Amino acid sequence: MATKSNIEWTEMTWNPVTGCTKISQGCKHCYAERMAKRLTAMGSDRYRNGFEVTLHPDLVDVPRGWRQPRVVFVNSMSDLFHDDIPLAYIQRVFATMRDCPHHTFQVLTKRSERLAEFAAYLPWPKNVWMGGQRGGRTCHAPRRRSTSHTRCGAISLARTPHRAAGQSNA
Ligand code: SF4
Repeated sequence: MATKSNIEWTEMTWNPVTGCTKISQGCKHCYAERMAKRLTAMGSDRYRNGFEVTLHPDLVDVPRGWRQPRVVFVNSMSDLFHDDIPLAYIQRVFATMRDCPHHTFQVLTKRSERLAEFAAYLPWPKNVWMGGQRGGRTCHAPRRRSTSHTRCGAISLARTPHRAAGQSNA
């Protein structure tokens, strides 16, 4: 399932994973957490675990069915490089993005170190815009050599971390 977004720098959200844990000061007012709690209270099955990291394998291939090109914010309700998400699952998400070159995928993470660790094991097609953030500071251009081939998205993408995903919930 994907949701049309009101975020100005994206069109859709796609959440093959939901839930996260706070890792920095920038997480203090995490909108995704508040939204997840609200959806749990509303009885949404996707949020039956609240804000705990939850994989949704049935959603991994969803973008393959979108015929019209879309700009997609990936995991607005989580962090794709969270420790609880196995590399094999992240690879499946990236495979979908690679196989859908007509879409643009925006990925944000506050876990730049795990991104650096896995970067060599992931495909990096041009339609994937990667934004990293360390601590409370925005990183527009990954500095580690292992992530030098990643492509940061628009400045507004990197400036508005997951909090900004508030308008989306799936
Ligand atoms: S979703 Fe983003 S802002 Fe929220 S806890 Fe996770 S890393 Fe922090």
